[in-house]
Amino acid sequence: MPDPWTLRYEGFDPVQEGLREVLCAVGNGYLVTRGAAPESRADGVHYPGTYLAGCYDRATSAVDGHLVDNEDLVNCPNWLPLTFRPEGGEWFAGPPVRQRLELDLRRGVLTRHALVADPQGLRTRMVQRRVASQAQPHLVALETTLVPENWSGRLEVRSALDGTVTNTGVARYLGLADRHLVPVSQGSGDDGLLRLEVTAAGSPLHIALAARTRVHHANTPLPVDRIGEVEDGWAAQLLTLDALMGRPVTVEKTVAVYTSRDPAIGAPLRAARLLAAQAPGFDRLLAEHALRWAELWRRCRIEADFDGIGSLHLNLFHLLQTYSEHSVDLDVGVPARGLHGEAYRGHVFWDELFVLRLLNLRFPELTRAVLRYRHRRLDAARQAARQVGLRGAMYPWQSASDGREESQRLHLNPLSGHWLPDHSHLQRHVGSAVAYNVWQYYQATGDLDFLATAGAEMLLEIARFWSSSATYDPGRGRYSIRGVLGPDEYHDAYPWAERPGVDDNAYTNVLASWVLARALDTVEALPGYRREELLERLALGPQELDRWQEVSRRLHIPFHDGVLSQFDGYERLAEFDWAAYRQRHPDLRRLDRILEAEGDSVNRYKASKQADVLMLWYLFSAREVRDLLRRLGYPAGHELLRRTTGYYLRRTVHGSTLSSVVHAWVLTRSDRRASWRHFRDALTADLRDVQGGTTCEGVHLGAMAGAVDLLQRCYTGLEIREDALWLDPHLPSALGHLELDLRYRGHWGVELALDHRQITVSLRESRQEPVQVRFRGSPVAIRPGESHRFTL
Ligand code: BGC
Repeated sequence: MPDPWTLRYEGFDPVQEGLREVLCAVGNGYLVTRGAAPESRADGVHYPGTYLAGCYDRATSAVDGHLVDNEDLVNCPNWLPLTFRPEGGEWFAGPPVRQRLELDLRRGVLTRHALVADPQGLRTRMVQRRVASQAQPHLVALETTLVPENWSGRLEVRSALDGTVTNTGVARYLGLADRHLVPVSQGSGDDGLLRLEVTAAGSPLHIALAARTRVHHANTPLPVDRIGEVEDGWAAQLLTLDALMGRPVTVEKTVAVYTSRDPAIGAPLRAARLLAAQAPGFDRLLAEHALRWAELWRRCRIEADFDGIGSLHLNLFHLLQTYSEHSVDLDVGVPARGLHGEAYRGHVFWDELFVLRLLNLRFPELTRAVLRYRHRRLDAARQAARQVGLRGAMYPWQSASDGREESQRLHLNPLSGHWLPDHSHLQRHVGSAVAYNVWQYYQATGDLDFLATAGAEMLLEIARFWSSSATYDPGRGRYSIRGVLGPDEYHDAYPWAERPGVDDNAYTNVLASWVLARALDTVEALPGYRREELLERLALGPQELDRWQEVSRRLHIPFHDGVLSQFDGYERLAEFDWAAYRQRHPDLRRLDRILEAEGDSVNRYKASKQADVLMLWYLFSAREVRDLLRRLGYPAGHELLRRTTGYYLRRTVHGSTLSSVVHAWVLTRSDRRASWRHFRDALTADLRDVQGGTTCEGVHLGAMAGAVDLLQRCYTGLEIREDALWLDPHLPSALGHLELDLRYRGHWGVELALDHRQITVSLRESRQEPVQVRFRGSPVAIRPGESHRFTL
């Protein structure tokens, strides 16, 4: 990205179109619309998709002789359709003769410059701008300016709303139920508005759109003839007007979108019609929208002098389009693939672990809303634990609307064509991620009210789940957690066992111990009577708390060859012949699929999809990991991190974009160059579509946010714990200078500025209390208006 605020694509490339649609998507946390051409339909090259946060539909499909139930993020009615023709000619259906796409990240505007020629050689220049308003999240708008280059005459424009779209954006899911929209009503009314209302096929979800299309020349309305064209699920208007060679004609299409899930409305269609009728013209709408983006960028200020700053802006841009202040009241989580495509069906995984730590120090109100999404599903998690005979709360690996487990039970290996059992739901560590996020939010904000209510309830119930999952092994004198998957999804069973899952995954167990310890701290931190209330409400007695102490100190953590083992028995797996396979397969990221297609199984080998054990050093400082292991009774020397990192790095294929984020982090202190390489990989994973064809199905939000967080917290050595901001910077040599603003415990203007010699912390504007900073351990209190410089 030569211009760090503009993503630019010259020309039309059918192979790249899906990727460009995702990277050029516009959104506002309420909805996201892919950057598909307005004249296009889903045809294998284009895929117009608009996704509304939290709008899922459930459907049953037959797969390999089984009935499977899936909840999908619905591809909502397409609001974009707009095309034109010189009267009597052919409708423009793309591609144009010439085209340039420009996404202005600063203002959130997608502009398309194109030259269109019809079969008769009539040429028209076209400039299209589109926005999804960050000021009024229910409004989206498309402005099209047409200039006839070599003709004058009658111009016809067709503007439509299309409710006949399906969910067919992911090739692997073709053949599964894909028709989620059922038309309710459509029309082109006397008020000049188009309207369309649909309902979801398997859920009580109503979606309504109303569109206003106006035509003007230099802001003077032009007379048009208007005819409505209505079919089931489709409403269009045909506008006819006089066009003169060289005279620009501007068509403004402004669309209001509401659903039955929205707060503060009566009926969605009524709300949509009202808003479409009252909406400002495009220029004002754009100005109000741009003002909001200016605010967002101010709050996200990160300045760094390296050539990837454009990717950093792009990542933040898509993060803030997926989750924003407009998501807060929608009861939605963080969808792993954004609202940009249909991969993973729009589900919520543990990826918020990579997102919320960035948001905590920028928009803590967004973190809180994500945690509320989890809290509303606490009962579903309790029910899930009960169903497997355990206590407490077992959060689902994949979550969507009601918090039940949404992970698929069968998945397709496209290389072999086999449908295979999917055990990924055994990634119980997702619950610890929820607990960790609660604690981090509390550390960043000091929001005791949240901790004492929803936060504590979740933390204690997740702790209870771990305690009830742990079984005592008298031979070892330790507790075990059996039959789980770690973050490395390659190992879903022992090659020598029938049952799925592995035992004592080190990451799962250390985190379970941490959760139990934090739950005990939380009980202590609660105001007295609230503690009594909660203990009573959860029927949590001294015996159970004693057991938490005991389990948290005596979980089994496996080691071999002087490193932490990924799970118990890992050392019995075979070494993989990396050299031979690398020769045959240049890309080993989906080693699981390659081996299965060859009749082998990745379960047999010491080979990982992504960071697993190393996640511990991603979540905790080296000192904290040491303390956690010592608490569990395992002496952990300084060498453990270095040895464990080297060991797994040699055996990891980075099949998930999250893996680079973690490796960049853990290598910061031992190998700065390698860390920087992983940082660059994570930062540009979507821009370069590093997985070769997955970004067109949605962005990888965890990697996008996690990469930015590497600058914010990793290279600054920033930690938030024990009521202080801890700093211990390790700036990579490729980065000369870094400057950022943080929000911390109600202070809005904490500024960090660092280079290789010094770090300055300033408290520009804030409440009265000082901020406690611990630079390499030594404490300094910084007061409002003060700056403090530390020499590195
Ligand atoms: C990764 C998971 C991740 C999921 C969604 C998978 O490929 O292995 O760790 O949560 O993608 O991003």
